[in-house]
Amino acid sequence: MAEAGINDARNGSAQDEQATTDGFHLVIDALKLNDIDTIFGLVGIPITDLARLAQAQGMRFIGFRHEQNAGNAAAVAGYMTKKPGICLTVSAPGFLNGLTALANATTNCFPMILISGSSEREIVDLQQGDYEEMDQLNAAKPYAKAAYRVLHAEDIGIGVARAIRAALSGRPGGVYLDLPAKLLAQTIDAAKGRESLVKVVDAAPRQIPAPDAVKRALDVIRNAKRPLILLGKGAAYAQADAQIRELVEKSGVPYLPMSMAKGLLPDTHAQSASAARSYVLAEADAVVLIGARLNWLLAHGKGKTWGAPVSKRFVQIDIAPTEIDSNVAIEAPLIGDIGSCVEALVAGLGDEFPQPDADWLDAIAQRKNANLAKMAATLDKNPSPMNFHSALRAIRDVLKTRPDINVVNEGANTLDYARSIIDMAQPRKRFDSGTWGIMGIGMGFAIGAAVTSGTQVVAIEGDSAFGFSGMELETICRYNLPVCTIVFNNNGVYRGTDVNPTGGADVAPTVFVKGARYDRMIEAFGGIGHHVTTPEELTQALLEAIASGQPTLINAVIDETAGTESGRLTNLNPQSAAMKK
Ligand code: ADP
Repeated sequence: MAEAGINDARNGSAQDEQATTDGFHLVIDALKLNDIDTIFGLVGIPITDLARLAQAQGMRFIGFRHEQNAGNAAAVAGYMTKKPGICLTVSAPGFLNGLTALANATTNCFPMILISGSSEREIVDLQQGDYEEMDQLNAAKPYAKAAYRVLHAEDIGIGVARAIRAALSGRPGGVYLDLPAKLLAQTIDAAKGRESLVKVVDAAPRQIPAPDAVKRALDVIRNAKRPLILLGKGAAYAQADAQIRELVEKSGVPYLPMSMAKGLLPDTHAQSASAARSYVLAEADAVVLIGARLNWLLAHGKGKTWGAPVSKRFVQIDIAPTEIDSNVAIEAPLIGDIGSCVEALVAGLGDEFPQPDADWLDAIAQRKNANLAKMAATLDKNPSPMNFHSALRAIRDVLKTRPDINVVNEGANTLDYARSIIDMAQPRKRFDSGTWGIMGIGMGFAIGAAVTSGTQVVAIEGDSAFGFSGMELETICRYNLPVCTIVFNNNGVYRGTDVNPTGGADVAPTVFVKGARYDRMIEAFGGIGHHVTTPEELTQALLEAIASGQPTLINAVIDETAGTESGRLTNLNPQSAAMKK
């Protein structure tokens, strides 16, 4: 009766008219029952018919050229919607390709479910050499928040429900769901199948912080002279925008957004301390962390960055209790969902919001203004060839007029510079290399953001970063998505000027083909390519792309000597220092 799935996939007939149903239908029914309407994936044995059926039953199936990109699209969809993004892959190699994205989703606390078909259990477990044989469940476990396998059709409803709840509840993350080929073909009585489905109720329950924990946090905040609020992407994910704004604005406390929290409040907000980042991190006496981890992106909360040897008083709001004290002692942990925790702080402060010392605010304002003036002078320059700054000025000026546009950003220097130069004015509009600082999320995130929002995406890509997912230009063109990809082309990783010290025929490890025409890649698929060498041409091309909403790639040629090794992570690259000796 595997045929049932296949035939229905082709003619889209309703299963209700049948006496039996099968694994194919039950998977789709279970997803639809839980309001999941899109699958990102790549077809092949044994899940092609599952994708066909999904489409026939009214779901959107977005087919990719590589599973990692499909997984990244699913992850970003999960982050934007607070519903798990679904990635569907074939067995073994397809699963492993998707696993990178699943691990990245888990690391970033994005809710996602990787569903992979798998080969026959009996053969896999005896290692008898099946087509694409692999023990996928166990391979997934270390990289996922949870991993489940369903063996019986009547358990599909429960399996999907468990996967959804695991992805969304508490700290969100990536979940693996293993569906053996045999399961998809299993048939059961249709009525029994319907009854086996589960609609998940309250998948991410509110978690109200304990009153004594709120009191402890309020004590720290009330006694601070130089307070700082630090907003992470957990705060953006939580969609507690109004509560966060109220806390920030009523308290008058300066705040710093982590990169994906940019836009939670507009970057032009008077209380944003982004342009005085080093100063506020070093000098604040109390820091309220809201959905941000003290990992490498925040120098682990210690050392010179944080003004050592003077230690800070920390309040940390997080849904995961084990995050507390992960790097430094947290005086006031506030465990709960961000909306409830921030609400409790606002209520606790009542009408007596203590205002920070005027000296503190003045000192921040001075530094901020000085740094902004310095940056403005750098951005005003018009070097030839164009460099990161003059190209980003052009992009910034266009994006300023369209705060609704989604921005994807990856690269080394391209990421570092764009993060500080491109202001965001709306929440959850910026998607980047995230917690791992990885390359390769570009086209997957861009497609995920375009499909989920239905609105324009601008992907600002280093030429090296773009290479990891560039083939998805075909996907962008196939679905006619409003994605404009801007490749910062400086002929190499970091820059294009390294030479092979032996004088041999091979180019240096960091060098690409000189003068590559990335714009012609998209033309091969019917998209629009632009080749630009000046900020004016870049502005024009970007305006055209946005006005048309057509798939576009702008090959932005920048100075090949521009760019530093690993961008701002040069310190994590010890070999390069050693080799220069
Ligand atoms: P950033 O990289 O922007 O600093 P992180 O990814 O390091 O942000 O931190 C996000 C944090 O937010 C995680 O520790 C996660 O547990 C937490 N988090 C995610 N969603 C919620 C939520 N709804 N309520 C509370 N905390 C959350």
